[in-house]
Amino acid sequence: MANTTESEIRAALAAIEAPNGGDIVSRGMVQGLVLREGHVGFSIEVDPAKGAQMEPLRKAAEAAIMKLPGILSVTAVLTAHKGAGQPARQAPPAATPAGRPGGGKALVPGVKHIIAIASGKGGVGKSTTATNLALAFTTLGLRVGLLDADIYGPSQPRLMGLSGRPESRDGKTLEPKVAFGVKVMSMGFIVEEDTPMIWRGPMVMSAITQLLREVNWGDLDILVCDLPPGTGDAQLTMAQSVPLAGAVIVSTPQDIALLDAKKGLNMFKKVDVPVLGIIENMSYFSCPNCGHRSEIFAHGGAKREADRAGVEFLGDIPLDIQIRETSDEGRPIVASDPTSPHALAYGEIAAKVWNKLEKTPQRAAPRIVLQ
Ligand code: ADP
Repeated sequence: MANTTESEIRAALAAIEAPNGGDIVSRGMVQGLVLREGHVGFSIEVDPAKGAQMEPLRKAAEAAIMKLPGILSVTAVLTAHKGAGQPARQAPPAATPAGRPGGGKALVPGVKHIIAIASGKGGVGKSTTATNLALAFTTLGLRVGLLDADIYGPSQPRLMGLSGRPESRDGKTLEPKVAFGVKVMSMGFIVEEDTPMIWRGPMVMSAITQLLREVNWGDLDILVCDLPPGTGDAQLTMAQSVPLAGAVIVSTPQDIALLDAKKGLNMFKKVDVPVLGIIENMSYFSCPNCGHRSEIFAHGGAKREADRAGVEFLGDIPLDIQIRETSDEGRPIVASDPTSPHALAYGEIAAKVWNKLEKTPQRAAPRIVLQ
């Protein structure tokens, strides 16, 4: 049996009625359709006021495509980025005093600082660091959110021990889930686990926009954004579409040597996002039995690289079995063993980052000097 083509997918979607008459294809609601090796992804643009009611439509669209020959998975996401009622969600500048105005990025009402946790490549512990830093910010008495923008491989649900679909009270915005005092939103709550994700530029934008703006974050001091690994187009798009106050780069000693993290530095420079500093993760091995510290890899590379690039070195976190185990069990070390040396190390880094954010001059408010 011949495999389904993109136009056959469109034809199948055209059989689904749009809420205001016509079908979802001819009404222009289907966007960013991607078909790759049997995996299909697309977004359905809906009226934000009717977001929650559109869930059956999204399911019907997925089911219609799943029936076609050779289709292995279908991921449809609802987006609502330019519908009526949207402008009201863009904050007046006064509501977000420490945002980054002037960059053409709409700020998020009530959220004081948004920071990105980034890495040159996968597997360096970026998500683990994002989780533990988010928790460390709560120990500073801050109101914290964690946005899992790693839409290709969301790991925050597992790391924070959360599952299930997010609720919506008003049919417009999603309620974040809460774990250890942190508000969390992740694509992992929205799409089935193990669904291969295929995203293209416009879809990445709308998915991130939705996770950022259509979630009831409430008032936050800091929103920690776990970016996808790497420094490709998707990361660039994200860095451009999210009003970031700064970025923290996570690197291992080896990947500093391979210069992967350097690309990360350059990417943020290109989009005018301040790099708050570098964290060296899996920096040295601390023996769980005797506490002996052995530096398997050339430890200290991140510090040298940071110095050379004129970026602050924020600290190092050892390779430690307890960090891995607590992550895998959904009870991150900062919450489960808050007085451990590792938890304190995350705490020190969080304090440095927070101080930097609070010291950053607020570009929104020009100082009036009386002479
Ligand atoms: P990334 O987000 O960069 O892909 P993860 O945070 O998912 O990386 O981490 C990859 C793996 O390494 C996970 O199994 C995690 O538990 C483990 N890990 C991360 N940091 C450490 C550390 N400092 N010590 C031990 N294991 C770690």
